[in-house]
Amino acid sequence: MKLGIVGLPNVGKSTLFNSLTKAGAQAENYPFCTIDPNVGIVPVPDERIRQLGELYHTKKVTPAVIEFVDIAGLVKGASKGEGLGNQFLANIREVDAIVHVVRCFEDDNVVHVDGSVDPVRDIETIEMELIFADLEVLERRISKVNRTARMDKTAGKELALLEKIKAHLEDGKLARTMIADGLVDGEDDRKLFDSYNLLTAKPVIYAANVSEDDLADDGASNAQVAQVREYAAKNGSEVFVICAKIEAEISELDDEEKAMFLEDLGLSESGLEKLVRASYTTLGLMSFLTAGEDECRAWTIKSGTKAPPAAGKIHTDFERGFIKAEVVNYAVLLREGSLAAAREKGLVGIEGKEYVVQDGDVILFRFNV
Ligand code: GDP
Repeated sequence: MKLGIVGLPNVGKSTLFNSLTKAGAQAENYPFCTIDPNVGIVPVPDERIRQLGELYHTKKVTPAVIEFVDIAGLVKGASKGEGLGNQFLANIREVDAIVHVVRCFEDDNVVHVDGSVDPVRDIETIEMELIFADLEVLERRISKVNRTARMDKTAGKELALLEKIKAHLEDGKLARTMIADGLVDGEDDRKLFDSYNLLTAKPVIYAANVSEDDLADDGASNAQVAQVREYAAKNGSEVFVICAKIEAEISELDDEEKAMFLEDLGLSESGLEKLVRASYTTLGLMSFLTAGEDECRAWTIKSGTKAPPAAGKIHTDFERGFIKAEVVNYAVLLREGSLAAAREKGLVGIEGKEYVVQDGDVILFRFNV
């Protein structure tokens, strides 16, 4: 899973990104990640694999990870080439969801690019740039489809959809709200809609960056956070409250110190943990687990994923040569003490290709290639 961090300059993006990645995993353990200073690999906190690791006396416990991309250079006029211009747009296209950092803290020492703290105006500034970028994509597609329209009957249908999305965006609305409002009907249109990979169709999580004082009550007494929540509710998005400055301090601490520090602040979890939870909810994700003496590991999949593509997360051969999956819930496995004991009691399911993987399943795949 890849999340892109966006926001106006000076809202706390880099502070957040740096603290997330400092607390993060060693990039060299994740060979799929090109070493890029703007990409950070962050482990998903998961107590379950730690416990399985103890059960198996495993050599290695490997959590699922989230890739964060720090997308700098998004300013007013970016879609017209201001700031870093269009470079950032290519980076956002690749992400599964956007974390939009908004400034909800006052600090006279930190300049605001528009002179005052006004989170909803800031959100709209950034989203307007994303809308402009999407309109360009649509216009290019429209002219292409127009050229083939005379020969191709389906083109007329696509053209209607493109014009509908365009009108929606020109109204200042996000493409994402078309789905929620039921404006994209039928499977064919939905497939086309998804194929445009529009920036404003991506799920967004708003990160309200507050001062230290507003953290304990989760921003409840901060009027600006309330505005962000109201705005997010209108387009069905999640908000989480964070103090990037505190997060930076937390990232310097070891686990024990961290727990004490959080308790002193009256918090039950760090910003990273909140962010991970919000991301999983927003994207409809969950984890299945693999366990053994060599490694206990969590793997992220979309809810509703069937056994073969889940196996494919581990290795393409597992999916290609899938025969069956032996499945046991992690809590049952911990209680019974071993896979053999769970098997004996008939608590391990033998599942086929149609099995829908559940959160917390410990799976042993049988395959043959
Ligand atoms: P970016 O341009 O969005 O990446 O912003 P930075 O992360 O570089 O932050 C801009 C300035 O705001 C820096 O001086 C940070 O120390 C400060 N800053 C970031 N987060 C907070 C916060 O939660 N509270 C306060 N008071 N300052 C912050």
